[in-house]
Amino acid sequence: MALIVQKYGGTSVGDVDRIKNVARRVIHTKNQDHEVVVVVSAMAGETDKLIRLAHQVTPSPDEREMDVLVSTGEQVSVALLAMALKDMGAEAKSYLGFQIKIGTDSAFGKARITGIESEKMLHDLRSGRIVVVAGFQGIDELDNITTLGRGGSDTTAVAIAAALKADSCEIYTDVDGVYTTDPNLCSKARKLSKISYDEMLEMASLGSKVLQIRSVEFAKKYDVPIHVRSSFNDNLGTIVCKEDEEMEKVVVSGVTYNKNEAKIEVMRLPDTPGVAAKLFKPVADANIVVDMIIQTSSTEKGCADVAFTVPKSDFNKALQIVRETSKELGTKEVKSNEDIAKVSIVGVGMRSHSNVATQMFSALAKEGINIQMISTSEIKISCIIDSKYTELAVRALHDAFELDKPTVAEEK
Ligand code: ADP
Ligand code: ASP
Ligand code: MG
Repeated sequence: MALIVQKYGGTSVGDVDRIKNVARRVIHTKNQDHEVVVVVSAMAGETDKLIRLAHQVTPSPDEREMDVLVSTGEQVSVALLAMALKDMGAEAKSYLGFQIKIGTDSAFGKARITGIESEKMLHDLRSGRIVVVAGFQGIDELDNITTLGRGGSDTTAVAIAAALKADSCEIYTDVDGVYTTDPNLCSKARKLSKISYDEMLEMASLGSKVLQIRSVEFAKKYDVPIHVRSSFNDNLGTIVCKEDEEMEKVVVSGVTYNKNEAKIEVMRLPDTPGVAAKLFKPVADANIVVDMIIQTSSTEKGCADVAFTVPKSDFNKALQIVRETSKELGTKEVKSNEDIAKVSIVGVGMRSHSNVATQMFSALAKEGINIQMISTSEIKISCIIDSKYTELAVRALHDAFELDKPTVAEEK
């Protein structure tokens, strides 16, 4: 007997027939003499609908109330799934985050899980019940409802798997695994049989939304291998796990893109110690995460230009803050651009290869795509480009690194 955590995403519970399909799959697992905890997302489109509703009431909804609102999507799906399971003769019980208790900090809209109580779930499992848990939500120390950020049900599932020391954690979605790039954008995308936590972390951070970043952080921290697979077929999916020797031989494993960032440029800042700290401190104080930063010497002597990117959702707030700080620092020229995209290549094998960046830049140049900013880490290279070239860039990079071809290990 194994303890299995299964998570079903929005598309997988998108309508009543699909909920029944999930119920059948869950019962199939249970009947193989396993204990099953099921984590579900809101039905496809519901969270977006709730967010739109809030914005019809006010342009800047209160963050606490927003979490009370958006967490309701998952309340609908856990109840419907538990009903379907019972209708099919299984014993099941649904829980919201606060009932379990999934404890979080108080960062509304992007709360972090701080602890999970396992007693109730274990009691139900040992009594033969299927436990159905609402993804994406928790409760803070003051009993406020919180949510974990978009795509947060993945994190609920992995965190529960870690807390219960589950034997496996399966993330069921609308594609049958992690691909070399978004299969909905590039028809040549190839399914990976496995990928390391670190590569998956980079891919998730760089825009591949198949898993939420924090779910991969959790998985790595507690060494919970994740099996990403489809809820519509029985194909084996992709295992996200610890790095092994075979993975190191692959220079580039995937290409990602992200259109959710915007660029802010501050021109002619005094090129003296302390200026960067003064510029970025108020941005950080406002809880805005800055991604890429580039400083270049300005056309004006003794000055520097600084460009950086922030999430589009924080763009207006960041721009306002930067305009105010820039005035204090003696410069008024602040430029911005929301039509940018970040394309990246990821691979642990990059560590031991020197010409990967050149290959990437040449592939983009061949398509006439200008690179506005570059950033690198040990296992990734990212370029900011004009957003209208995103699809072209992704396909060009996928071709340049021959990602449609199986790796040596996969061919064996
Ligand atoms: P769910 O609702 O099940 O959580 P998501 O929409 O959050 O599903 O994530 C699945 C989607 O992730 C896929 O439909 C696909 O378009 C997208 N995606 C982006 N990059 C990748 C990738 N490298 N491999 C697989 N899917 C990807
Ligand atoms: N329903 C939430 C969202 O749409 C959480 C999730 O789907 O994982 O972001
Ligand atoms: Mg998701």
